[in-house]
Amino acid sequence: MFESLSERLGGVFDRLKGRGALVEADVRTAMREVRIALLEADVALPVAREFVDKVTEQAVGQQVLRSITPGQQVVKIVHDALVEMLGPDTAELNLGVTPPAVIMLVGLQGSGKTTTTAKLAKLISKTQGKKVMMASLDVNRPAAQEQLAVLGTQTEVATLPIVQGQQPVEIAQRALSSAKLQGFDVIMLDTAGRLHVDQALMDEMKAVADIAKPQEILLVVDSLTGQDAVNVASSFGSQVPLTGVVLTRMDGDARGGAALSMRSVTGKPIKFAGMGEKLDQIEPFHPKRVAGRILGMGDVVSLVERAAQAIEHEDAEKMASRLAKGQFDMNDLRSQLAQMRKMGGIGALAGMIPGMKKAQSAMAAGNVDERILLRMDAMITSMTPRERAKPELINAKRKIRIAKGSGTTVQDVNKLMKMHQEMQTAMKRLKKMGGLKGMMSMLG
Ligand code: GDP
Ligand code: MG
Repeated sequence: MFESLSERLGGVFDRLKGRGALVEADVRTAMREVRIALLEADVALPVAREFVDKVTEQAVGQQVLRSITPGQQVVKIVHDALVEMLGPDTAELNLGVTPPAVIMLVGLQGSGKTTTTAKLAKLISKTQGKKVMMASLDVNRPAAQEQLAVLGTQTEVATLPIVQGQQPVEIAQRALSSAKLQGFDVIMLDTAGRLHVDQALMDEMKAVADIAKPQEILLVVDSLTGQDAVNVASSFGSQVPLTGVVLTRMDGDARGGAALSMRSVTGKPIKFAGMGEKLDQIEPFHPKRVAGRILGMGDVVSLVERAAQAIEHEDAEKMASRLAKGQFDMNDLRSQLAQMRKMGGIGALAGMIPGMKKAQSAMAAGNVDERILLRMDAMITSMTPRERAKPELINAKRKIRIAKGSGTTVQDVNKLMKMHQEMQTAMKRLKKMGGLKGMMSMLG
């Protein structure tokens, strides 16, 4: 079995415990282990290399947390970077066009195009109530069109009647006109496979795309593709404008590395994962799950959660000590807003602050929604670091700049300033009463 990455990294970092920040030499040593883990998970070499460089840059200089080991902290950094690179996790199909919407599937032979065509057709017709028609453009493989017709019967999805002797472009045209005539919402075009990337078939695929003008061109890839993933992704990606990727056979023992390679080379979202041969075995792609698989750790989720809690805890401690001194600037406000957003409620500390309490009850009453919190965050982002640390610098002229930079109005900026002002005053009052500790003892 694979040794878990956290075990591997443990040794590298043990001696670092209790020191201040992650130093470059240690991070580089750790990243060699990360690189091996990525390659074992079938991430293509150039992609693994690029990923490691990026994460090294992010990790060096980060403060070492006290409550978890540096090795675990690096695992968390790597995991988060993977999730970000694999994201987004709500990649939907673009069907909001004047019908019929056209979805075209391309990929190597045996990658699972025909199966995925039927799975997606079933999903779209069952969950969205759309009228879907499937058409096979595969005139190369004997009985390929019949295979799709059988799947159509099984899924109760219409298929374009087979006319012998037609070429792919003709079939696509026929599919379009009969879908229009019969009022179909969606047409799914299943194309012929390629054993290798072969120019004649690529040209055929381009010709079909030109005629059918698909809203979605999905590249179907076997998750066991391994090192070849880069070639597949770049050759298909350079010939047709892909809109997304479907990874099949994620039910097998693949560790998901192809996902990272695909995403990195095509820059397109991975929209679905095939989870078996049955026609309902398809799921939206989950970056977090796949990141865990790539890192090869059953414990990665709990580890990452623990790390996140530790970070939150240390942030809260830092905040508490600032508050105890009566300090509360825009950075503090921002971290409280972020906490509110994350928890859909109020941060533990902010709960004791009168101004925040008001915001909290307004939020509970549905008067403040997430968008308002995001807008406040945008305003703080538009401030300079000096303005954030010293909000009293923000005069009329600066307010106009901040409003412009954040797409808000000067009125909005004033409201934010007032909120900050109230909270700061509350902080100072709190300090006079003996700080948070004093207040808590008063609360009993
Ligand atoms: P195509 O040549 O790209 O059209 O590939 P097919 O759709 O004909 O699929 C080839 C084989 O892969 C078939 O036996 C499918 O049942 C199988 N297959 C496709 N998707 C999956 C999947 O997600 N999981 C598993 N286990 N098998 C799959
Ligand atoms: Mg096929």
